[in-house]
Amino acid sequence: MGKKIIPYGKQNIEQDEIDAVIKTLQSDFLTQGPKVREFEEKFAEYVGAKYAVGVSNATAGLHISVLALGLKKGERVITTPITFAATANCVKYAGGEVWFADIDPNTYLLDLKSVEQLILSQPVGFFKGIIPVDFAGLPINLEQFKILAKKHNLWIIEDACHAPGGHFTDSSNNIQKCGNGNFAELAVFSFHPVKHIACGEGGMVTTNSEDLYNKLLSLRSHGITKENMGENHGGWYYEMQELGFNYRLTDIQSALGITQLKKNISGVNRRNEIAAIYKKAFKGKVTFQGLLENDLNAHHLFVIEVNNRKDVYDKLRGKGVYAQIHYIPVHQLPYYKAIGYKGADLRYAENYYKHCISLPMYPALTKEEQDYVITNLLNIVE
Ligand SMILES: *Cc1c(COP(=O)(O)O)cnc(C)c1O
Repeated sequence: MGKKIIPYGKQNIEQDEIDAVIKTLQSDFLTQGPKVREFEEKFAEYVGAKYAVGVSNATAGLHISVLALGLKKGERVITTPITFAATANCVKYAGGEVWFADIDPNTYLLDLKSVEQLILSQPVGFFKGIIPVDFAGLPINLEQFKILAKKHNLWIIEDACHAPGGHFTDSSNNIQKCGNGNFAELAVFSFHPVKHIACGEGGMVTTNSEDLYNKLLSLRSHGITKENMGENHGGWYYEMQELGFNYRLTDIQSALGITQLKKNISGVNRRNEIAAIYKKAFKGKVTFQGLLENDLNAHHLFVIEVNNRKDVYDKLRGKGVYAQIHYIPVHQLPYYKAIGYKGADLRYAENYYKHCISLPMYPALTKEEQDYVITNLLNIVE
């Protein structure tokens, strides 16, 4: 195979995506048009939520999510250290404080017990919300988080950036899709090209609450409404009622997103085929992310744990396999170190980071490429 590079993730753009974008370029609307609405409706239906709001990226989506839930200066939110920095940063944008709880060493997801201990270690009303992440595509059990959140009067934002198409099975044996809004107030998805659905940049916030939906629409577009026009005003009239942003998704991006979304069912199936082949090859030899029975991992990533991680990373790179590390724990990033993060004992997250490495995982990965990855990895670790 020589020097061909196999990345850890890659988008797959085909002729129908190109055609859809060209058609939109030739239409009347490049932004604020019908393709955005169509994408929002189709996405909401796909994840089983009532409402969806397209945004310029998931980071913007997280920002207006904490604002829509009323987060204010100095208020505290709990999240996981094993995530992309944006999950925590949205709290800082609103002037809030980020507190971290530890992960479960088997699933790498935010650990319910660690969160509960953190909540109980502080006075009543100390925390406002929790942002759990469906890390690597593995759906976090939000039914359990909701019980805890309700008890302590907290909201939940599900960071579902890794998990469109994933689901867990609840205690009544119902399938609960990531982002369906049954347990979390809001869920956020990303359409960055390394994620499942590529829009170049883009994101979506889903919810079942009409109030939150309207709030998100306002914050996405400058806080401007045309709703109070009344009879005394001309057609140009609008009101800016709060300080919002321009966090809009364009019609061009939405046309791409609609076509990509259609392919996500087969994409998630293919990702699970790839995962099954990795697991079969690694069983008893290499540790990989655990999964509860009856849950569907959307597999944004396939994460394993190895000893001598830097050595494995470098040797794989030497073979053209560009594995990646997800993630440097957020509390260890210089910005969070400098402002002084707060939180629980984070030993599992810190230990996980010493060993983790994400192998190539994307629908277009061929059987030959995957075999090449597996052979080289086993040669290195054995
Ligand atoms: C990618 C990602 C984000 C941010 O997404 P953008 O669309 O790039 O802003 C947030 N959270 C997680 C977990 C992510 O993986």
